[in-house]
Amino acid sequence: MQVWKFGGTSVGKPDRMHSIRNLITENGTRKIVVLSALSGTTNGLLSIAESLKANNDVEGNQKIDDLYAHYEVFIKDLYKTKDGYEQGKAIIDKEFSFIRSLVSIKPFTLKQEKEIVAEGELLSTQMFEAYLKEEGINSALLPALDFMLIDADNEPVLSFTEEKLSTMLEQLSDKQIFITQGFICRNPRGEIDNLKRGGSDYTASLIGGAIVAEEVQIWTDIDGMHNNDPRIVKKTFPIRELTFEEAAELAYFGAKILHPSTITPAKLKGVPVRLKNTMEPEAYGTLIADKTSDREIKAIAAKDNLTAIYIHSTRMLNAYGFLRRVFEVFEKYKTPVDMITTSEVSVSVTIDNDEHLDEIMAELRQFADLEECDKDQTIVCIVGNFSADKEGIALKVLDAMKNIPIRMICYGASEHNISLLIHGKNKAAALNALNERCFLYEDAMKDIFSAQ
Ligand code: ASP
Ligand code: MG
Repeated sequence: MQVWKFGGTSVGKPDRMHSIRNLITENGTRKIVVLSALSGTTNGLLSIAESLKANNDVEGNQKIDDLYAHYEVFIKDLYKTKDGYEQGKAIIDKEFSFIRSLVSIKPFTLKQEKEIVAEGELLSTQMFEAYLKEEGINSALLPALDFMLIDADNEPVLSFTEEKLSTMLEQLSDKQIFITQGFICRNPRGEIDNLKRGGSDYTASLIGGAIVAEEVQIWTDIDGMHNNDPRIVKKTFPIRELTFEEAAELAYFGAKILHPSTITPAKLKGVPVRLKNTMEPEAYGTLIADKTSDREIKAIAAKDNLTAIYIHSTRMLNAYGFLRRVFEVFEKYKTPVDMITTSEVSVSVTIDNDEHLDEIMAELRQFADLEECDKDQTIVCIVGNFSADKEGIALKVLDAMKNIPIRMICYGASEHNISLLIHGKNKAAALNALNERCFLYEDAMKDIFSAQ
């Protein structure tokens, strides 16, 4: 069994739904298909919730009417038969009558907001499944609200999903294609809840882990994770293979294609995750698995708008406990530290949230000397396989950076990451220089071409 997930834009138009129907039935594999809401719907529903929260019922009703009108047009093109259309109409009427029923609930709380925002996935999956039925496909709906659960800390309960899904699938053993909702779940109070924005990828990985799927495929409209930021660098290419650790580093450093916690459940069960492009289904995409090919430097990503703080103290010489005191200050102000470098008498750190910068600086000054901090800093993160026995990697990276001032360097914290801190104004130059040196050299070219 495979798990395939399609995002909002992949289901956002009737003809996109038609192509997904073809994709999922092309090869004979049984699949659980996870769908997001149609593009724009989640935002639309949240905006309705905003109006209702503010007791602006007239505005709320107007927004509901507008969204309904969108669905009315959508189903006209989605279905091909009168019967199919009537099924679709019944689905949207039922869900919108629920949405309308929330208008009169006062006060409109977070509970209602979560109910309303869940409607996006409830609509898309039922509409799509009715379309598969119209097409004579042997499909069934698996209601996510019956098998996705989060605990009091908002963490998904994988054992619950394992148990429920296995029973449900046993009962539907004659079915070939299963459709389910991404994003939505229940909480310990039994209420409707969700896995946070963009959570459908997470749903797919949780299901993949729960049933120990052959593979999880995340279908979007990009051809996989790129080796560098295509908005800044011209010659980028999709990375064929990444390890789970490398993919996590990239997701953290802003490769928007994957929700950062997405792959954890798949990784836990060793289920490979493949990123695929609905616009180019034959393309290989990016495969994320336990082991990958030998390529050393796999990708480059960057994180902007950081502040660097330089802390200096001669008392640090041969002393212990100094770092603890430094980090206690950040802890007190609930400010995560991204990057750290140390020497015998100084420490430099970067933070991404500078809301409490003044207080943090004042407290640090009580026991250390501080230089003026630097704003608008960027971490450039080089991701790949840098195990301790490899030579020459730092040389390549630093050679690429030879004309760009570097403020901090981190190497060796993990086997998958080298981080450099530079001024934000040099980011484009750094990404391009690294791309030239680390990928577009002769050896890399060979690798790229043999991979196509
Ligand atoms: N529909 C939800 C959102 O827009 C979940 C998702 O698309 O992954 O955030
Ligand atoms: Mg998404």
